[in-house]
Amino acid sequence: MTVVRTRIAPSPTGDPHVGTAYIALFNLCFARQHAGKFILRIEDTDQLRSTPKSEADILAALGWLGLNWDEGPDKGGDFGPYRQSERTDIYKKHVDQLLAQGNAFHCFCSSERLDELRTRQMAEKKALGYDGHCLQLDETEVKEKLSANIPHVIRMKIPTAGTCVVKDMLREDVEIEWQQIDMQVLMKSDGLPTYHLANVVDDHLMEITHVIRGEEWINSAPKHLLLYQYFGWKAPLLCHMPLLRNADKSKLSKRKNPTSIGYYQRMGYLPEAVTNYLGMMGWSMPDEREMFSIPEMVEHFDIKRVSLGGPVFDTEKLDWLNGRYLRETLSDEEFMQRFSQWAFRPDMLQAIVPLIKQRVERFTDIAPLTAFFFSGLPPISEQNFEHKKLTPDDSKKILQYLAWDLETLEAWHRDRIEKMLMQLAEKMGFAVRDFLFPIFIAIAGNPVSTSVIDSIAVLGLDIVRARLRHGIEILGGVSKKQLKILEKEYAVLAHQQLSS
Ligand code: GLU
Repeated sequence: MTVVRTRIAPSPTGDPHVGTAYIALFNLCFARQHAGKFILRIEDTDQLRSTPKSEADILAALGWLGLNWDEGPDKGGDFGPYRQSERTDIYKKHVDQLLAQGNAFHCFCSSERLDELRTRQMAEKKALGYDGHCLQLDETEVKEKLSANIPHVIRMKIPTAGTCVVKDMLREDVEIEWQQIDMQVLMKSDGLPTYHLANVVDDHLMEITHVIRGEEWINSAPKHLLLYQYFGWKAPLLCHMPLLRNADKSKLSKRKNPTSIGYYQRMGYLPEAVTNYLGMMGWSMPDEREMFSIPEMVEHFDIKRVSLGGPVFDTEKLDWLNGRYLRETLSDEEFMQRFSQWAFRPDMLQAIVPLIKQRVERFTDIAPLTAFFFSGLPPISEQNFEHKKLTPDDSKKILQYLAWDLETLEAWHRDRIEKMLMQLAEKMGFAVRDFLFPIFIAIAGNPVSTSVIDSIAVLGLDIVRARLRHGIEILGGVSKKQLKILEKEYAVLAHQQLSS
């Protein structure tokens, strides 16, 4: 009997996302239910965007949630390495096999040609995709170009007619015409694989039996199935889970909802409440009970009970559930322990102590000075933003532009944040003191706190984003129309070069 093996395959390109935890939970439950294995694989083929920090944060966040994997880069296992950047030779060998079999081809098209092709296809309202230009090259031409070291990628061949039938554990067969499928790049000009090649090769070599992943990948399934066929491998069963949604049913996005797991940890949610809530996303216990643990979910798990309507990730509902966990599942003793673990996290305290040490005379001074590090959204009103030199619209604009600016920051570092703030103040034409005022209010709830730049650095992007957004709402919010205007102005500002 084959052992069930599932996996979560995050790309370490940002903050650990609740969507990753949600998919991990369902993979874990499915594997455990079948006494199988749950694997964690790091898909870091995007060298530019992948960072070791993001990988470490993802592992820590999934670990915090108790979504424990059996094999992974930190744990090892019989099917490693579990990090794609360490498997380059494996992909090379497999792409060579496809080339030898005639299932893949070298493409020497320049980015100019591809841009031009794209523009033309857009103008003619045609489907976008590679036009097969390099398929016409004969063997000698390919050899010549290769020995002349002309940069190239390797693409997969796609049938020109017919349809691909994608079988999915949760839906009727999905039929996709091959004509709609692009001749996917499998290997980039730097010799590294794309997601599609690496994912298929690894799922096969790691003996993954069930691929449970987000719905956004369903359109890639034909390419993947075709690769399995080219290699002569049996494809795993596919299961595309409905995506988490914002309240307005759009795809869950950080602009509307905090999406990073770290945010929920910092905001004082219990990991068991978060996983319970994620388990309620499109799934329910047979007896409809709302509180259940991971082992209980495993015991009653049935993937067929996943409903495809987009589950809404509603933080108010999560608050309610978390409240129940705090009240109903923890003894006073446990409550105390869990609270002190949360409040006295060494990394948080380490970051805060240098900011307050020079300003206190007694320990009793600490709580009032640092309360905003440990609170949710500051209790502020419009009056708090009143300022001699700034109108409410000015303040709103400052908060919005700062939020956008911070999103573009590559490394969350105090000095980078400071530089960004100073430049933004200058570009917007405000004196730094005035400019910082609404930021203080939104972040700390009052104008006299520890340095607002240090505070932003310690609080992290998610909490800061949520507080800036809260400040904007308190100031009356931004209508869709206003948002468009602000976006335009901001784009001009963002490109403006400063003389200094
Ligand atoms: N690396 C992909 C992601 O970030 C994995 C998708 C899959 O599970 O196939 O979502």
